[in-house]
Amino acid sequence: MIKAGAGVARSSVVMGREEEPTIFSFSSSDHNPVKLRNTNVPSHDVGNEIPAAYLRSEHLPLPNVSERDVTAHFTRLTHRQYAVDLGAYPLGSCTMKYNPKMCDAVSALARFEGAHPNTPTEFVQAWLQVLYELEQALCEVAGMSGVTLQPAAGAAGELTGLLMMQAYHEAQSNPRKTIIIPDSAHGTNPASVTLGGYQTITVPTNDHGLVDVEALKKVVDEDVAGMMLTNPNTLGLFEQEIAKIAEIIHDAGAIMYYDGANLNAILGKCRPGDMGFDIVHMNLHKTFAVPHGGGGPGAGPVGVTEKLVDFLPGPRPIKIDDHYDWMTPSKSIGRVHGWHGNSLALLRAYSYILLNGSDGLRDVSERAVLNANYLRTKLRDSYDIPFDTTCMHEFVVSASSIKKETGVKAFDIAKALLDHGFHAPTMYFPLIVEEALMIEPTETESLETLDELAVALNAIATEASTPEGAESIRTAPHLTPVGRVDEAQAARALILTDDHPST
Ligand SMILES: *Cc1c(COP(=O)(O)O)cnc(C)c1O
Repeated sequence: MIKAGAGVARSSVVMGREEEPTIFSFSSSDHNPVKLRNTNVPSHDVGNEIPAAYLRSEHLPLPNVSERDVTAHFTRLTHRQYAVDLGAYPLGSCTMKYNPKMCDAVSALARFEGAHPNTPTEFVQAWLQVLYELEQALCEVAGMSGVTLQPAAGAAGELTGLLMMQAYHEAQSNPRKTIIIPDSAHGTNPASVTLGGYQTITVPTNDHGLVDVEALKKVVDEDVAGMMLTNPNTLGLFEQEIAKIAEIIHDAGAIMYYDGANLNAILGKCRPGDMGFDIVHMNLHKTFAVPHGGGGPGAGPVGVTEKLVDFLPGPRPIKIDDHYDWMTPSKSIGRVHGWHGNSLALLRAYSYILLNGSDGLRDVSERAVLNANYLRTKLRDSYDIPFDTTCMHEFVVSASSIKKETGVKAFDIAKALLDHGFHAPTMYFPLIVEEALMIEPTETESLETLDELAVALNAIATEASTPEGAESIRTAPHLTPVGRVDEAQAARALILTDDHPST
């Protein structure tokens, strides 16, 4: 079946070193697709139920492949991937850390996994208890009074927070127009602001990589609905003047929003609520244990302080005596998810919280910060580090000098790292650093792995200093199943079948 020509070892095909054809090339009319036994369920003539205008006149050209070959094809494809379970994935901001398998096991328990979200509450008390207790735990972690578990990701949480902000200002008969965001913010922040019907005002970062408070004062007026602040910011630095910023924003009658996507930096150490924030979204898929990436389900619950609790989406789980039920807050902005959120992601996160306990969660953030600082100091001699002070869970290096001297760019370094068996860091973000590589080792990597990662990154910088080395890096990766692709075209002109590039 596999087109392993003469001289190509079968193992190299199976291990993903050879080209894998698309599923269409395995298709053949004499393959038996899965046969289901006769179930005695009467088959309906679809033609009677679907108007003729909506029926196809020809069969869809789907491949006809046996189950056995489908399994082999997709299993071979998985061998051509890099994944968190294979090794370090130092993606800054997007926090890809190893997730304990126990959390998967809990979320796969049949009684949780099998429950329909519309089951009457008396039959799913355990599910409601999990959601209720998770809300309590997140309130404790973030210093908030109430939480919605519905938002399906960080960006969905941002929009939810902004809609609550809007409802709050409207309830005060004082609708406002703008949201302030630092120039180091994650791209989802301004996108959510636009979706929420507001306009973005950008404040610059000062020489220390922190919000420029004097510049902030100049843009605050009575049209400002709120400020969205990422902390630690995308340079991996803890904002030093949050108390002062909160005072300026609150004096203008506006709301403080905490982008808590990377809460793994501060767990058990400090809380957005205690710093003066009114709203915080938490990426459970970056902070706790929820696999993500590739569009997989995440969860972006949003916590609010007392003055916003009535605006939370509903229904929320409540506890009355020993019984759990649903209730919708009095001024709720409504639903932001079809049911109760990505519930199995929520269950994973809650199992992670219980697994660690409060001391364990504090250890998580201490280790995340220690690992990042350790790696940062190991890279000092090879890379520019624009804000080379104690960082939180991540840091940003720049390949600016390397580029000037050798022509090798941050992009090339990221590609070359793949040949060393690591995933690439985040590149060209934050936008305020030239040739940025944003590195987050996370708390899950061992000292040995951090050393290996440092050796690899330093070796690439050294290799770049000779013309042959630089050329090799500019054409990397050389050892992965797929080498350099045209980054722009690869995402726009997907080749989904052997002979039909999509348009
Ligand atoms: C990841 C991230 C987001 C967006 O979260 P998604 O779950 O990807 O929508 C927002 N802000 C920051 C700082 C992030 O790192």
